[in-house]
Amino acid sequence: MSQMSTAPKAKITTPMKSKNVWGDRLNTPFKALGEHIACDLPGGRAMFFTRRGGVSGEPFDTLNVGLDTNDYMPAVEENRERVAQLIGIARDHWLEVKQVHGSDVVLVTEPPAPKAKKVEADGIATTLADYAAVVVTADCLPVALIAPEGVAMIHAGWRGLAADVLKKGVETLREAGATEIQAAIGPSIGVCCYEVNTWVHRAFMRYPRGTARLSNHAHLKNVARLQLQHAKIPLDMVHDVDICTMCAPRSLFYSHRRDYGADPKDTGRQASAVWRVADDARDDD
Ligand SMILES: [Zn+2]
Repeated sequence: MSQMSTAPKAKITTPMKSKNVWGDRLNTPFKALGEHIACDLPGGRAMFFTRRGGVSGEPFDTLNVGLDTNDYMPAVEENRERVAQLIGIARDHWLEVKQVHGSDVVLVTEPPAPKAKKVEADGIATTLADYAAVVVTADCLPVALIAPEGVAMIHAGWRGLAADVLKKGVETLREAGATEIQAAIGPSIGVCCYEVNTWVHRAFMRYPRGTARLSNHAHLKNVARLQLQHAKIPLDMVHDVDICTMCAPRSLFYSHRRDYGADPKDTGRQASAVWRVADDARDDD
């Protein structure tokens, strides 16, 4: 268990440098890494990928990492390989779950068996060095939890948030020994675009009107902030990149709500990953 108190020494790699597509849009601690977004916090790094830089054809163009989509799977595999290259963590060291819009968060403290079947859950916490927790989204919130003792990546849509998936994520990371946790909310649907029916509003009745519930819209990012605050993470430790997947340019993000046709599997998924990084292993980028 000594591993839980020692941060990994692995050197992090710097993905390709290219034109900054973000302009001055990224707020600290988020920063551009090529056409993607990185967020360094004490204990780890999160990366929130766009849909750019992959090989998939329309309508999955181009960096679709969703295995449960109607895309050509060899293209998805190649895209995943590219993400692995960019984060510097091979695919057999990715920790993934079968996402089911629930609130279970798994804690991984031992390297999983090769080809282990994915469990149904919506978050992965880990103390392992050189492993990345990865979720895929297309409007739902990818939320990274980072602490010097471990990291977690959570997939949080309205159902997961209503079922307290972020609270579970924080509790799970605390079980792993984490004390000072910071959170990073990646690109996801904003209140601007998230018009909902009364069912969704009802799911958030315990959150204040005007903050989480606004006329016929739901503010999932505010729900996330409030849920993290209830889990005793101070608000200044919660960082939101504040980018909406639906009204950002189509070439940047998959948006289930914007793009889905008859079959939801016709929308691609972008990747979000988090892994442990010792402060003395960071390079300048
Ligand atoms: Zn929007």
